[in-house]
Amino acid sequence: LTSEESRAVATPMMEQFIEIKANNPGSLLFYRMGDFYELFFEDAIEASRALGITLTKRGQHLGQDIPMCGVPVHASDDYLQKLIALGYRVAVCEQVEDPAEAKKRGSKSVVKRDVVRLVTPGTLTEEKLLSPAETNYLMALARVRGGAQELALAWIDISTGVFRLAETTPTRLLADIFRIDPREVIVPDNLMQDGELKPVFDVLGRLVVPQPSVLFDSASAEGRMTRYFGVQTLDGFGSFSRAEMAAASAAIAYVEKTQISERPPLGLPERQSSASTLFIDAATRANLELVKTLSGQREGSLLNAMDRTVTGGGARLLAERLMSPLTDPQEIAARQDAVAWLLSDNFLTEQLRSLLKGAPDMPRALSRLALDRGGPRDLAAIRQGLITAGEVAALMRGTVLPDELSVALTDLELLPPSLEYLLSSMLAEDLPLLKRDGGFLKEGADEGLDEARALRDQSRRVIASLQLQYCEETGVKSLKIKHNNVLGYFIEVSANNAGPLTEGEAKARFIHRQSMANAMRFTTTELADLESRIANAAGQALEIELAAFERMRLAVTEAAEPIKKAARALAVLDVAAGLATLAEEQGYCRPLVDDGHAFAIVAGRHPVVEQALRKQAESPFIANDCDLSPKSGRNGAIWMLTGPNMGGKSTFLRQNALIAIMAQMGSFVPAGSAHIGVVDRLFSRVGASDDLARGRSTFMVEMVETAAILNQATEKSLVILDEIGRGTATFDGLSIAWATVEHLHEVNRCRALFATHFHELTALSEKLNRLSNVTMKVKEWQGEVIFLHEVGPGAADRSYGIQVARLAGLPAAVVERARDVLHQLEDADRKNPASQLIDDLPLFQVAVRREQKADAAASVSAVEEALRALDIDDLTPRQALEALYDLKKQL
Ligand code: ADP
Repeated sequence: LTSEESRAVATPMMEQFIEIKANNPGSLLFYRMGDFYELFFEDAIEASRALGITLTKRGQHLGQDIPMCGVPVHASDDYLQKLIALGYRVAVCEQVEDPAEAKKRGSKSVVKRDVVRLVTPGTLTEEKLLSPAETNYLMALARVRGGAQELALAWIDISTGVFRLAETTPTRLLADIFRIDPREVIVPDNLMQDGELKPVFDVLGRLVVPQPSVLFDSASAEGRMTRYFGVQTLDGFGSFSRAEMAAASAAIAYVEKTQISERPPLGLPERQSSASTLFIDAATRANLELVKTLSGQREGSLLNAMDRTVTGGGARLLAERLMSPLTDPQEIAARQDAVAWLLSDNFLTEQLRSLLKGAPDMPRALSRLALDRGGPRDLAAIRQGLITAGEVAALMRGTVLPDELSVALTDLELLPPSLEYLLSSMLAEDLPLLKRDGGFLKEGADEGLDEARALRDQSRRVIASLQLQYCEETGVKSLKIKHNNVLGYFIEVSANNAGPLTEGEAKARFIHRQSMANAMRFTTTELADLESRIANAAGQALEIELAAFERMRLAVTEAAEPIKKAARALAVLDVAAGLATLAEEQGYCRPLVDDGHAFAIVAGRHPVVEQALRKQAESPFIANDCDLSPKSGRNGAIWMLTGPNMGGKSTFLRQNALIAIMAQMGSFVPAGSAHIGVVDRLFSRVGASDDLARGRSTFMVEMVETAAILNQATEKSLVILDEIGRGTATFDGLSIAWATVEHLHEVNRCRALFATHFHELTALSEKLNRLSNVTMKVKEWQGEVIFLHEVGPGAADRSYGIQVARLAGLPAAVVERARDVLHQLEDADRKNPASQLIDDLPLFQVAVRREQKADAAASVSAVEEALRALDIDDLTPRQALEALYDLKKQL
């Protein structure tokens, strides 16, 4: 049945529902009925299942029961949160006129309703739906085809107003999206099947939300942007590519579409250039467990180990910096300066942190207020934020600060002092959640309000004395004056005490209202009068409060820019103070980061494992050096690391990658000293991140990731490879690992750490001059193996696999048998086949072949030239034949 047909036979209310539902496909419709949001039909079935609430029915449609479920409005945030987390989108439909208006039009007419907002994962603002330490980005992807095709991303956090743009390419798209970590990515529907982009969308899964391609039209982009920001031209914003404009305006269009009539206060779009951040591909980001572990927890991630911030804004900024480390040594040094300065003054840093602890989440409160979704507590959050900003500024003032901190201080000082005064003089201490509950203005804030409140309080006393008077008059001691929403104030006596009120003179005075099973209710003219006075006073009081709320709300939104800047400044201070605290507590050092190709870590540690060991009070973490700096020329070294399982190989590999990331995000690092030439791209192939769900074998994943590294790593990159070639037969695996090392050494020429089980590979150091062998040291003692976790020069001569198997509890008989087999195998294989290879196999030939190709290209063009010079129409058949012979000769 089409909605047209079903509408024709529906009740007026169902008709309205069906029409609104048809306009909002793909969302559950929350349809407002009094104090409930109700869901009907399919929506009701899905929601009741998802939320675990009762499914009932309401009326009939086309002769069938209509399935229905409902959630109370006051608790709707909780239900929304659940639904959004489960991947649903919700259209919130409110009554948009007073029910009295509808009645005027006739008894059958329905209250006008409209969708006021679409709730989607990327456009949340409610405190309950947001996680304080995480950004909540909505992202738009746009592509324009011109001379060269361009791809761009725009991302907006409407809960804080952050708005950014960047260009991207199909190859780095996934890495960029993971770096920014959006909650929702809108994509033009005509790109969904694009061969190049589809694999990326497949990985992103339900994060991707296709939207009509008109939203992404670059021609109308400028118009939409200027309208949103209320400016004549975008010239003042900087210059953007067409694709960036298209993405930005699509993001804005989507915000408009979901927020309907409200406009969140967005910052001007800021452009991020890809060269300014360390490129970390998606696999590396996941494998290194930067912000969450492979199993999805925050606990155990690098972020968790580094986070000493005390505010939501600080935690979000720290995560953002960790996701996008820098590549400009000067910018990195500026951040380090701030940390170093705070580190040098523990006392001030502690004071700063204890002030910051009291700072509420101003940007999110601001956003809710601007969207008119805020309550008194949001105003209080702004008030407290302003107070904290003032205290922090006072603390920092008067000293010579490093740049980053002095910019922050300036931003704090830009706040208008009048705003804090306004809020402080108006807002009470204990605040209701909703403004419509009233009671959030202080005594003395408004004269009219004080009068109305006095009247209300006085009336309460009058009622108390009235009750006493009635008790005496009637002689009924248990007579009470009570209040409920239906009757208002009334007099209640138990049924067997009702006599004195219904007889004689009293009969005229006490007007009967209601008979209950064992009580009777009455009213009097006096009580009714009093009642209306109280109601008036309360109504008046609420009116005054709401007007004051609106005044404060406007004052706050007018100061949106300075408030956002101040909040950002507090976050910057929180991050710097947090990193200083971390460095102090963990004994980190300031790394030297420059434009060279060095990578010299002395006494480096793994930031996460080190803290874990300390917490468990186990033996301390063993620090290890790593030196991949160029010995001569500009190319860094490759370390080939061998050693037994459980020896600490992957810990060592990861720790060096993490140290690079920490250094480039501006943090101090877990090392005695560190010198790092800026890394442009970080690649890792570590651990077996199973991708079986997508139908790829572990080996396939390993090869795809290795291919990406070999194709993309540059001289300035850092590559971490753990056990390449394990997932296949020994000789296959060895051969692939062998060729990979040669390629890294000869073609990529990057700094690299390569851990392997194939001891044969260590022979390569004879041929490759920048390759060194290192090994995890072990001690053997009475047939037991002891892991020293120490990296030293040389190659492991044995795997100790059997010893490790024994430690793991393999049955003794199996261990014995394995020993026998091993002896046999080793006897048969005394001679290392790899050393033979080194003698027989010429060195990797890529460079040479490339040159030959270039020559070939040159001679092709000579033939081409000769061909071009020929005027075929002018040739005799004989000349043509000669020319052909000539050409052939040139090949
Ligand atoms: P491999 O990759 O060689 O199998 P891992 O790196 O997984 O070994 O390390 C095995 C265990 O040894 C880890 O769980 C870790 O707790 C411990 N470990 C590794 N490196 C160190 C170190 N430098 N100091 C102390 N313990 C370490």
